Amino acid sequence: MDQDPALQAAFRHHPRDLDRFRYVYCVVSRRAGGLSIGINLNPDKVCNFDCVYCQVDRSTPTPKIAVNLALLEQELVSVLKMASDGSILQNPRFQNLSPEHCRPKDIAFAGDGEPTSFPRFDLAVEAVFSAQAKAGLPALLPVVVMTNATGLGKPAAIRAVDRIYEHGGEIWAKLDAGTEEFFHRVSGTRIPFSRILKNLTATAQRHPIVLQSMFMHLHGQGPTQEELTAYCDRVREILAAGGTIRLIQVYTVARQPAQSYVAPLPKDEQNAIGDFIRNHTGVTVELFY
Ligand code: SF4
Repeated sequence: MDQDPALQAAFRHHPRDLDRFRYVYCVVSRRAGGLSIGINLNPDKVCNFDCVYCQVDRSTPTPKIAVNLALLEQELVSVLKMASDGSILQNPRFQNLSPEHCRPKDIAFAGDGEPTSFPRFDLAVEAVFSAQAKAGLPALLPVVVMTNATGLGKPAAIRAVDRIYEHGGEIWAKLDAGTEEFFHRVSGTRIPFSRILKNLTATAQRHPIVLQSMFMHLHGQGPTQEELTAYCDRVREILAAGGTIRLIQVYTVARQPAQSYVAPLPKDEQNAIGDFIRNHTGVTVELFY
């Protein structure tokens, strides 16, 4: 099925807008094996990281947009109905795809910024559950939160995460570094690395998490052996503290990065990094090219 050109194009093209909707979008996701319905809590593209590989286009200023949770819920009900009755296939973006690739598989908080920085994140999660009930889905879709982990220690986020796991969802948290220096170089933030590690550890102690790790060439150089060793040390520290990491997803750059000196890893380098992490942490590793 991966040879289908329309499907390949859909995998590559992940715009965060759909028709008239402000907060809800859909992408055909290789990872989800179908349609992933995205929730964007940062339509103004504000993020507390400034990752060198970020694919969000911030070249033009975007006005501050307050999130209206009632509207978000309404939008999600509409999109869930279109996805479940197949009418989404009439959208020009999906019309060349088969119904099998346009079945809704999950709902992902994964917009143009960090979802846990939204102060009412717990209410946004409840709006997602409520929309699924209103759309009359036969079973709840799992809710995935793609996060840089900065806000996972907030009480509202802790409540929300517990609810997400109660309903079969999961946290997919970013960890791109093993040292403080490399963390700041890649993430462009002043937030201390220790906060990320503390939040990851505390979340993994309560629920099994997935780590999403981006490795790339910076000025033509991949990560050093020391950096990869330090990365594995951080992963092992989370495990030693009683955390559970279900999976590490090893990515490289797939779309236009924020910085021109960032480039994807060649496949053999990415494979070698995957093997190294697997061998040094004992965690299952999945590679995304
Ligand atoms: S955390 Fe995500 S949205 Fe924010 S800068 Fe990094 S890649 Fe972009």
